[in-house]
Amino acid sequence: MSDSNQSRAARLAHLRREQLAKGDPVPLPLTMASIFHLPGDPAGFNQYGRFANPTWDAVEKLLGHLEQATAVAFPSGMAAISAVFFGLLKSGDRILLPSDGYYTTRVLADRFLKPLGITIDTRPTATFLEGGFSGYQLVFVETPANPSLDICDLPAVSAMAHAAGAVVVADNTTMTPYGQRPLDLGADVVVAADTKAPNGHSDALFGHVASRSPEIIGGVMDWRKLAGGIPGPFEAWLVHRGLETLEVRFDRMCSSAETLAERLAGHPAIEAIRFPGLNSDPSHTLARAQMERFGFMIGITLASEAAAEDFINRCALIQPATSFGGVHTSGERRARWGDAVHPGFVRLSIGCEPAEELWAAMKESLDQLG
Ligand SMILES: *Cc1c(COP(=O)(O)O)cnc(C)c1O
Repeated sequence: MSDSNQSRAARLAHLRREQLAKGDPVPLPLTMASIFHLPGDPAGFNQYGRFANPTWDAVEKLLGHLEQATAVAFPSGMAAISAVFFGLLKSGDRILLPSDGYYTTRVLADRFLKPLGITIDTRPTATFLEGGFSGYQLVFVETPANPSLDICDLPAVSAMAHAAGAVVVADNTTMTPYGQRPLDLGADVVVAADTKAPNGHSDALFGHVASRSPEIIGGVMDWRKLAGGIPGPFEAWLVHRGLETLEVRFDRMCSSAETLAERLAGHPAIEAIRFPGLNSDPSHTLARAQMERFGFMIGITLASEAAAEDFINRCALIQPATSFGGVHTSGERRARWGDAVHPGFVRLSIGCEPAEELWAAMKESLDQLG
């Protein structure tokens, strides 16, 4: 992890201290409020729960600190992505999405943007630069893409897309601000599902948009206020708590993923493996150039659907569940959702369990496949 990540992590734990008065609670209070005491001129104060909430302010402060940008909180990752689409696009625009990224983003665009007169094209992440970006108002990347873990060159995409006049949006969910810094690499907007590693405890959905452009932030904030897709204060409070330990959890998860990927790659039951940290991975060179860490997700291909299900369900330390980024290692066969992957492809999200224990449990389950 780079020095600046280390200093950001250290400062994060003390950000709140700057506003504390003597006798205030050190941990963040939860403010459940739809209305605020507001006699006379309301300008400059909390006005109404759809516009503002002190618990949102606190979590946005931490997220903005990590992104080194302005962050706007949303009730889910998809709400954050929707805010970028509906807050920034207009009829006649043309947008480019990854064909292998988070499926729901494509469905949202297809189902709700297309009928408004927005043209949607898709392209695989691994060859995202091919064809250039002329004619696009918005270029959306997800790198590493979920679930295939292909990577695209963020600085090159950003430079070429900017030359063509497009806004570049990066879904950074798989990496978090500690693992990859899209705004520093040239993207205009980060969207992320804090449902995953930032909250980390699999008990809340949350999302955010971050940008250094006041116009983009203005559009996204207006969308939130007017459309009303706002985060609940309690979820904001949970994510604030999660963010305080993100650096520790993310470091453990990424380190364990590196150890496990090497060992999984050598197991005879594994037919193929994707992990950007492996020398043999097609994304490795690019990952080294633009990512702070290699992440905590590993894609493995077993012989069949049955082998994959047996591996997941028999392993005592793999939680069979969708989603990723939690303290528990989880795994699932992505073909069960219709992703265009091998029926034996398993997406593993490495959690916070000690790596040697995890390896022993995974090896035992793999050995049983015979
Ligand atoms: C989970 C996820 C989302 C959506 O997040 P929700 O909180 O479930 O709405 C968006 N993008 C990626 C890459 C994801 O993994």
